[in-house]
Amino acid sequence: MDDAMTALPLVFDAPRRTKPPRHLADLTREEARAAVTELGQPAFRADQLSRHFYAGVTDPALMTDVPAAARESLAAALLPGLLTPVRHQSADGGRTRKTLWRLHDGALVESVLMRYPDRATVCISSQAGCGMACPFCATGQSGLTRNLSAAEIIGQAVAAAAAMASGEIPGGPGRLSNVVFMGMGEPLANYARVRKTLDALLTPAPHGLGLAQRSVTVSTVGVVPAIRKLTEEGLNITLAVSLHAPDDELRNTLVPINTRWNVAEVLEAADAYARRTGRRYSIEYALIRDINDQPFRADLLGKLLSTRLAHVNLIPLNPTPGSKWDASPLPAQREFVARLRAAGVPTTVRDTRGSDIDGACGQLAAADQVDGVPSVAVPVPAVEEAVPLGAESDQA
Ligand code: SAH
Repeated sequence: MDDAMTALPLVFDAPRRTKPPRHLADLTREEARAAVTELGQPAFRADQLSRHFYAGVTDPALMTDVPAAARESLAAALLPGLLTPVRHQSADGGRTRKTLWRLHDGALVESVLMRYPDRATVCISSQAGCGMACPFCATGQSGLTRNLSAAEIIGQAVAAAAAMASGEIPGGPGRLSNVVFMGMGEPLANYARVRKTLDALLTPAPHGLGLAQRSVTVSTVGVVPAIRKLTEEGLNITLAVSLHAPDDELRNTLVPINTRWNVAEVLEAADAYARRTGRRYSIEYALIRDINDQPFRADLLGKLLSTRLAHVNLIPLNPTPGSKWDASPLPAQREFVARLRAAGVPTTVRDTRGSDIDGACGQLAAADQVDGVPSVAVPVPAVEEAVPLGAESDQA
């Protein structure tokens, strides 16, 4: 282990900050109708606003079914712009695009849209920063700034859907098909807002994004009580658990929450989710050279998972600034995969899409840049074309 790695405390409670302005996407349909009525407008205008929001319409002038005199005031009251794009960075011929968003209080978060031949996935943030302190993750090293509101999380997915629909992503107009909570933050440490976001993602258009349950993935370090709560929701979304080590001794250092809920407990909670949904869960495992990639750990992991309804998604470590850790070399990766498969565990290796623009797993660290970002936003689109990635096939 690298002793130079700072050991940060686990932080579950987000610092209280000024709340973002009220937004329609934070409200239930009834609350939105009541809010519109209070503004002296008929309740059905809430539905009109909702339709525009989920269609990605942000300019009140385009909300032509709302009387011109009421557009500006309704939009200002219920559709405030919560996410201001600071810049886009593109890679892979424009098919991977990372967006840095500034929130109302200056906090910064990132989301990454990845277009593949058969689908388009957006990786969204649920918190500004993260309190889970995983030493190999750039976000984890920045600490927790605050929880995002539901509207701030939903807005990232809506923006991605709008970008796909508009045709601005190479490949022609398309549809956002997948959402993964693998951006900044621990989604299950911001449970209520993430739960609301799931409703918005799954609700059919025009009052949601109409995504299929299996196309939405919540990734967690293993907040066991929250996994149990999610199990009781009656949802069938995909659950991903960031394991990164099969043994408690190593996992205590790589995923510090393990000191609270250990490997056996987190797998038991994931098993219960799988039993309830009948759906396989994902085990995420970042392969870190000489840290967790030894053949004996592959065998341990294989033994742990061979009887479970789980598959393993290996992620060659994406380097983060200041870390001495490296991705496992290819032969070690291949050996790890072979041993897991020999144990009967379905195993895939995730591609590192977006790593050239620090947009790959664990590289989102916008909070680090809060002080460094100029106060005048860089005009958007300011697409910086990065070197195209030699992307392998993604299995995320
Ligand atoms: N907090 C959630 C979601 C965040 S990140 C979670 O931990 O699951 C999504 C995945 O990227 C997690 O499995 C995380 O452990 C992994 N990850 C973090 N840093 C990484 C890095 N530097 N290289 C590869 N994967 C990393």
